[in-house]
Amino acid sequence: MEYEAVIGLETHVQLKTKSKMWCGCANQYGSEPNTNVCPVCLGMPGVLPVPNEEALRKTVLTGYLLNCEIPRYAKFDRKNYFYPDASKNYQLTQYDKPSTANGFVEFEFTGPGSVNGLGRVRITRAHLEEDVGKLTHFDRTSGVDFNRAGVPLLEIVSEPDLTGADMAYAYLNALTEILHQGGVSDCDMEKGMVRCDVNISVRPVGTKELGAKIEIKNMNSFSGVDDAAGITEEMRTKENAHDYRYFPEPDMMPLAPTDVWLAEVKSRVIELPLARKQRFMRDYQLPAGDAEVFKGNVALGNYFEGLAQQSKNPKAVANWIINNLLAQLAEANEAEAEEQAALGVEPADLKLSTLADLKFPPAALLELVALVEARTISSSAAQTVFAEMFATGKAPAAIVQEKGLAQVSDTGAIEQFCDEALAANPKFVADYKAGKVAVLNALKGQVMKLSKGKANPALVGEILERKLKG
Ligand SMILES: [Zn+2]
Repeated sequence: MEYEAVIGLETHVQLKTKSKMWCGCANQYGSEPNTNVCPVCLGMPGVLPVPNEEALRKTVLTGYLLNCEIPRYAKFDRKNYFYPDASKNYQLTQYDKPSTANGFVEFEFTGPGSVNGLGRVRITRAHLEEDVGKLTHFDRTSGVDFNRAGVPLLEIVSEPDLTGADMAYAYLNALTEILHQGGVSDCDMEKGMVRCDVNISVRPVGTKELGAKIEIKNMNSFSGVDDAAGITEEMRTKENAHDYRYFPEPDMMPLAPTDVWLAEVKSRVIELPLARKQRFMRDYQLPAGDAEVFKGNVALGNYFEGLAQQSKNPKAVANWIINNLLAQLAEANEAEAEEQAALGVEPADLKLSTLADLKFPPAALLELVALVEARTISSSAAQTVFAEMFATGKAPAAIVQEKGLAQVSDTGAIEQFCDEALAANPKFVADYKAGKVAVLNALKGQVMKLSKGKANPALVGEILERKLKG
């Protein structure tokens, strides 16, 4: 009998808020242990939670980004359990009435389970809860840091639609890209902002019901999700919901979002990364590789689109941005980083240039593309112009004039260079007449050299051919 794996993921994502979920403590990574704490997040007797409205907004925003329904009634429950990372002995979470339900994520994927190059994973729910503290184990003792306790945490539960590790990886990348670009979370894996539990069951191929479920907790990297497909041994059996004795949180009113409130959240919805990539390919005839670059970098995509809308040749604009602008920026930043590091600046505090710091206005790039299109300058001269405008912010036309880079399209002058080249290379001429047409390129090279690279190459080719055939 053949078996297939059925995989669902529970993804925990820390929300990007200034303060924690129920108190005013900072939601900040990297502080000294137990400095961002107060009686509320430490669970002292008699304290009352006050919900963080921004966390509620970001939860519903996630619902919109993941194509979910937004119920008009939601509430919080207490999930009771004893563990040293939760000093309250319960966790506030949304149980039977979550803030979002029944959505899906679509992403590029070509493996098993894909349709027309796309994978689709249904989202059961994305509900809001609070994070717990972090345990650290030393030689003979253990410590707990409650800075993370009470940080708003989103749990995104998928249906068991994943067919394997490859699809899980593609899904997680798509999900975190959406949440990151949507401003919901920084999704920094290294800071533990995204954690995954994997539910795997195995069933005979062709059957519908799910087999015994194994849950693997807290995979804290995407490669960990890949490893789950290797060998994993059972550590403990999963508790059932009744073990947690859920009951409605008595200190919190249920949530009933109004139309006005929902409209404000909806106004923050961004164009999804996949939709943006598809639109760039369709509207600007970009190849998938170029559109992928702009999908991953929103600011760069906006920069491109601002110019592409005014250009007759969006592909040329994309080439300049991806091949030249990014490379120059990276090079300049590398030098800048070295300089700052030498002055003792910490890597996290480095001030590097972005698109906003460019010395030339965006329109200069359009001017450069137009100069090449009009054959005023050759493509190699355009590289020189670009480097100069990047360094100084001078206008392309001014640089062309200053450096004398304009192409010679004056046929009289080119005829003269051609005559000189032909006279100096009788062997090439004889070869050409004997049928070796490839020598034309060598002759062209001679003419370009004589013109110091400024002759219009297309014209050179035409004139040489006419003269050789004449
Ligand atoms: Zn607190």
